[in-house]
Amino acid sequence: MRRISILGSTGSVGRSTLDVVDAFPDALRVVGLAAGRNLDLLASQIERYSPEIVSVRDPGDVAALRSRLKRNVEIVCGADGASAVASMPSADAVIAAIVGAAGIPPVYAALKAGKRVGIANKEVLVAAGDVMTRAAAENGGEILPVDSEHNAVHQALRCGDHAEVQRIVLTASGGPFLRRDLNTFGDITIADALAHPTWKMGNKISIDSATMMNKGLEVIEAHHLFAMPPDAIDILIHPQSIVHSMVEYVDGSFIAQLSTTDMKFPIQYALLYPERVAAPFARLDLAKIRTLDFTAVDPHRFPAVELAYAACRAGGSMPAVLNAANEIAVERFLAGELPFTGIVDMVSRVLDRHAGNVAPIRSVDDALAWDGWAREEARGIDVAVRQ
Ligand code: NDP
Repeated sequence: MRRISILGSTGSVGRSTLDVVDAFPDALRVVGLAAGRNLDLLASQIERYSPEIVSVRDPGDVAALRSRLKRNVEIVCGADGASAVASMPSADAVIAAIVGAAGIPPVYAALKAGKRVGIANKEVLVAAGDVMTRAAAENGGEILPVDSEHNAVHQALRCGDHAEVQRIVLTASGGPFLRRDLNTFGDITIADALAHPTWKMGNKISIDSATMMNKGLEVIEAHHLFAMPPDAIDILIHPQSIVHSMVEYVDGSFIAQLSTTDMKFPIQYALLYPERVAAPFARLDLAKIRTLDFTAVDPHRFPAVELAYAACRAGGSMPAVLNAANEIAVERFLAGELPFTGIVDMVSRVLDRHAGNVAPIRSVDDALAWDGWAREEARGIDVAVRQ
């Protein structure tokens, strides 16, 4: 029996994780849950899964959550509360599915406590990848990718040695604007940008997929997870989202992983690894899909991708700044404060301001300090960016 804590249990990945728990009742048990503000859903999860400890984002929500519960459970809050859930002694594994840099403290706490962390929360690796991989190596922790592309790469890497890898190829659906007329990008609405063609996900990653900043963040994530330089990580547009990614070996062989567009596959892999267990989820039917297309990324359409490569090459604090500026830009777009094209403009401006000051990230505090700086900068940018 593997005992698990779920960070972000009320979100899209968190709910899929509970579906995987439901599918393997003899192998998986929930011992800790952390969420943000969706108290009704969290309360129903507590009644159903009986965790030992739960965490909410705001101290003011502790009493409100307790009032919704019939059973007694320890309730904690804030970054310390999520970290307590992540590092609780009785958990063997943690699924990290909080959105954004808010996941940094609990993921670090889990790795320091020597846990297996199935990481969906890519922003943690983007902002503090070296700190996290070091914490895992020094404390017997383990990072297993849940992001479907990195999960695919993890599987493909089981076919050869690191020295035999030529490059990693991350696939990208291209999001909702792959074929939209570039002259109409100024008219993109929030609803247009949230309408992802192949995946059903939370709002932030859906917007990141529309700008393709998501794929840029994934390049940085892959750089940390697989110790590959950014120039050995490529992106191919693959609109069907069936090939989740691939590894090219030096002998010219490509090893790819394919499955349906369902996060339960990579979540199950991360929780049960190294075992492969019969999955009760809908299978791929390639005869029905028939065609798999691949094309190069158009940098003119998706300028976020090159921004992320540049941040990855610059290293140090630059990726943390990119990530935080992007989080604020997406928040402001979703609040109706700037146009879709303003997201990448805003991130680019914050990166320019940071260019002369790139510093090493040696600790979580370093990452959080640069994260805070970039958020302030992005919040301060005059919304004269509006077109
Ligand atoms: P959602 O927005 O659906 O869920 C986010 C979760 O984080 C919710 O449970 C939310 O709680 C919680 N949360 C937000 N802020 C805090 C905080 N400060 N403290 C504690 N909990 C918080 O996001 P997704 O599930 O879509 O994505 C989660 C992560 O996984 C992201 O990093 C994303 O990039 C990554 N990912 C997602 C995929 C997907 O298919 N959705 C695929 C691959 C990666 P509440 O709702 O209660 O406020």
